Amino acid sequence: MPDATDTKAVMDLKQQLVDCIRMLEQSDIIDYNGHASIRLAPDRLLINIGTCQRSRLTVADICTIDMEGNVVEGNGKPPLEFHLHAGVYRARSDVKAVVHAHPKWSTFLTMTGHDYLPVYAQGSLVWPMPVLDSPNSINNREMADRLAATLGDRSAAMMKAHGAVTVGKTIVEAFVLANYLEENAYRQYMALQIGKPYAFTEKEVAACREKLWTETLFKRTWDHFRAKLA
Ligand SMILES: [Zn+2]
Repeated sequence: MPDATDTKAVMDLKQQLVDCIRMLEQSDIIDYNGHASIRLAPDRLLINIGTCQRSRLTVADICTIDMEGNVVEGNGKPPLEFHLHAGVYRARSDVKAVVHAHPKWSTFLTMTGHDYLPVYAQGSLVWPMPVLDSPNSINNREMADRLAATLGDRSAAMMKAHGAVTVGKTIVEAFVLANYLEENAYRQYMALQIGKPYAFTEKEVAACREKLWTETLFKRTWDHFRAKLA
């Protein structure tokens, strides 16, 4: 983790965060809402400002805040749901990056009470999927603590009729898992239209995890979407 005063390293992280959010926007996972963050230090995180244009994001749209949401550096305020990020970082010292979005396919599942099923290999990396039993915004500490408790030690969670959160040791990991989560939900949703989707067995999920949970493959997924950014 870079020192918060290490400007070059911080600028590189800001650019990664910008790329992450723009890729999520281009993939219809983030819309005019949605946010991602990177932990810089125990009490400092980078996050996009609430009012920014996600599709045209630049490093000028990234601010540094403390865990109370006070702006330490940057032009603009964090999103109201910064509490979600602070809550996860408080509960999980292993987490260095968080993505939160309101993606439609996975949210269709929680709107209708369908369990998230591992129906394709990459999607099985975030199964089993905990679900927060509330559609309310994570805009206060109580909701943030509830969300962090729901997430537990998992890498992803969904919030009923609201959205999804993914976390990682890096922003690459949090981005890639958000992508896998939503793609799996899309496939499950579509399969439900014509029949009963096949859900991977625990043994098949374990095999996928062993094969697919590697830095190299996560980087390849990131690079695939990064190359499509204008
Ligand atoms: Zn939200």
